[in-house]
Amino acid sequence: MRADQQPAAPLGVVTLDGLQALLAGLRRRGFRTIGPTVRDQAIVYDDIESVDDLPRGWTDEQDGSHYRLARRDDEALFGYAVGPQAWKRFLYPPTTRLWRAEREQDGLRVIAEPPSTERLAFIGVRSCELHAIAIQDRVLLGGEYVDSHYQARREGAFIVAVNCGKAGGTCFCVSMNAGPKVEQGFDLAITELIGEDQHVFLVEAGSDEGRVALAEAPHRAATQDEIDAAQTVVARTAASMGREMRSDDVRELLLSNLEHPRWDDVASRCLSCANCTMVCPTCFCTTVEDASDLTGEHAERWRRWDSCFTMDFSYIHGGSVRASARSRYRQWMTHKLATWIDQFGSSGCVGCGRCITWCPVGIDITEEARAIRASTAAAESSS
Ligand code: SF4
Ligand code: SF4
Repeated sequence: MRADQQPAAPLGVVTLDGLQALLAGLRRRGFRTIGPTVRDQAIVYDDIESVDDLPRGWTDEQDGSHYRLARRDDEALFGYAVGPQAWKRFLYPPTTRLWRAEREQDGLRVIAEPPSTERLAFIGVRSCELHAIAIQDRVLLGGEYVDSHYQARREGAFIVAVNCGKAGGTCFCVSMNAGPKVEQGFDLAITELIGEDQHVFLVEAGSDEGRVALAEAPHRAATQDEIDAAQTVVARTAASMGREMRSDDVRELLLSNLEHPRWDDVASRCLSCANCTMVCPTCFCTTVEDASDLTGEHAERWRRWDSCFTMDFSYIHGGSVRASARSRYRQWMTHKLATWIDQFGSSGCVGCGRCITWCPVGIDITEEARAIRASTAAAESSS
């Protein structure tokens, strides 16, 4: 913040024009603005230049293996849940060149890929997604080895969060203590207030940079009615989650049932397609690939997303450690909900529901946990 810029009050109300001014201000300050937009019959995250690029009047219907866009009966800009993409697509891209090598007269010259200097502004980040970013921060920045590419993108990022006004059919963030109210980790947090005679956005600043951005946009002070209305929006969303999962003892439940017959049941349905890991906002596994051109003068090493559902991922000398679908699904679910806690201090699941929606056969992590719990409880009561 410059010395001549006074922080705004941390709470203000902007109209559609004010929201447009906020976006324009971020772009003027050099941010690449990325937000939700409709493409290929889904709401995806992509470059946006104005509020006209947002999914005005659209919502999403979600269930196991089911995603459809539908028209709302109003002009809400953020009236959907989450789409197939997570913000990791931009902070931790699907492919990243790590280095390249050029053959020169006296040998090979290796040139490391410099971290990105691009500043990203994310528009419309949900509470579960903020929790997911915090989890990836712990994984990729919190240990002995820091991912410099992630660090560069993450440290420069400006986050405009949105309090959810609608729960998706596969959402269970309440169960995972990850939403729907945005609590921390944002520069600005928006609650969309839409009624018969008004369409405004309550904006809360969560950082000095956020206060400056709000100060630059035309806004007015929020009324108590508007503050109350924003709380009602979040409470209504919290009460309408599409799914739920008891999470307080799920670690112990899974780790004490590693040979449960349910793993065979889920394996009979699982296609090992890896969709669940690709859409999950916290999954971070990668592999590296080397490539050279036909002349042999130029080589590159690329990192790309991988998945614990592929045979290659656990291949070590002589074969794959997890050769069956049973062992791969069990590895994924027990890592998400149990051993992730041992490794990184929190669950690896934020309850966004993407793995349920985008599983082609509708495998549902909440249902799998419930089935194991139910049979365990039944066995205990009959003994
Ligand atoms: S495991 Fe499923 S519900 Fe949990 S964060 Fe990943 S995609 Fe979302
Ligand atoms: S659980 Fe579903 S999405 Fe995940 S690998 Fe199996 S079939 Fe694919």
